Amino acid sequence: MSTAIGLFGGTFDPVHLGHRYLAEAAVREAGLDRLIIMPAKIPPHKADAKIVSGEQRLEMCRLAFADLDKAEISDYELGLEGKSYSYNTVRYLKDRYPDSRICFIMGSDQLEVFDTWYRWQDILEIADLIVLSREDSLDSDELKKKAARISDKPGKITVISVEPFEISSTKIREMIGNNEDCSCYLDKKVIEYIKANGLYKAEAPAPWEKKKYSVYKTYIKEHLSKKRAQHSVNVAETALKLAGMYGADREKAYVAGLLHDVCKEMPAEKQLEYVLRSPLDVSEYEKKTPALFHAVAGSVFIREEFGITDPEIVKAIRYHTVACGNMDKLSQVIYIADLISEDRDYKDVKRMRKVAEQSLEKAMLEALKFSLADSVGKENTIPLCTLEAYNYFLKLKKGT
Ligand code: ATP
Repeated sequence: MSTAIGLFGGTFDPVHLGHRYLAEAAVREAGLDRLIIMPAKIPPHKADAKIVSGEQRLEMCRLAFADLDKAEISDYELGLEGKSYSYNTVRYLKDRYPDSRICFIMGSDQLEVFDTWYRWQDILEIADLIVLSREDSLDSDELKKKAARISDKPGKITVISVEPFEISSTKIREMIGNNEDCSCYLDKKVIEYIKANGLYKAEAPAPWEKKKYSVYKTYIKEHLSKKRAQHSVNVAETALKLAGMYGADREKAYVAGLLHDVCKEMPAEKQLEYVLRSPLDVSEYEKKTPALFHAVAGSVFIREEFGITDPEIVKAIRYHTVACGNMDKLSQVIYIADLISEDRDYKDVKRMRKVAEQSLEKAMLEALKFSLADSVGKENTIPLCTLEAYNYFLKLKKGT
């Protein structure tokens, strides 16, 4: 009988007991003969706070899985040049062990975005997936339905029916940054390693963060509904994080996030007055569509009322609803932050958040696809700049 080899990839930044729980369940339920735990490279822009090196993540995995029977730690992806794709790793394993069954192990959040991965259909040709739910709210029946949408071939995707263990590395990094006790989520030796190496400590806030932009915050609190004011603060916080991840200016991201909806609750005629004073290109359609006024109006308002003339902030606010063909990093950050901020709760928001963690450009393409489909469904006119944005991000994806 052929052997079954599990591949468990992840950033493991840091490795936690949820990872261990998944690994143990996969070995047990899928009858694995070997389990290869493989930390992935983290692009420099993705590292939170202090950069944790691949070697340090590898060492934490060694400590966390030292006593797990059948487990071995591999530095294969860390040793590769450039970006590593799961497809290449699965291919490599299959070539090396042609007679083995390769099982790719993942949590439910990864299954949600699996069909955006590079050559995901080819991964399914080579390997089977073993999936475990990460959230109490997603039971195994529901997860099985999601799995069936990706592949209905019997045995291709196995959903393990055990209680989820709700924890993430993000949460742990936050807890350590806030000096909170997270020892119940980590292996003891990993805790010692993190302490000894001073990992995940919060950086001192930048001087501008201390100012907290109280003038802008006061304005939005006084002129917007409570819900929208909170949404604006949430967008600012999300934009700050995305800017840190993708190399946009963090301060500009915070300000643009805070003020992106500043005109949204003004009477439409007042918004239109601002729109008509915009020095930027505004289509006739936008001038006739009240739902689109506030973005253009906001970009004029911040200059006239707050003296903000920075072209990147102005552009990010101006295009945060319709997007455009040549969006810079900041405009992309605000567009996505508006869609995934903490208060958003539409059906696919979790998937959108996950895609935004992987790639800003992929998130833009997903978001535009969704927005275009929605407009087509409602028989709304599609602004030319939105189509240009879609074509731009599609071209990026296809590399043409
Ligand atoms: P981050 O919060 O930084 O995104 P993470 O906690 O999701 O990190 P990763 O290293 O990205 O951890 O995850 C590696 C793999 O382990 C992924 O397939 C992920 O779905 C899975 N995983 C992580 N945490 C859990 C958990 N608590 N339960 C089940 N699977 C998990």
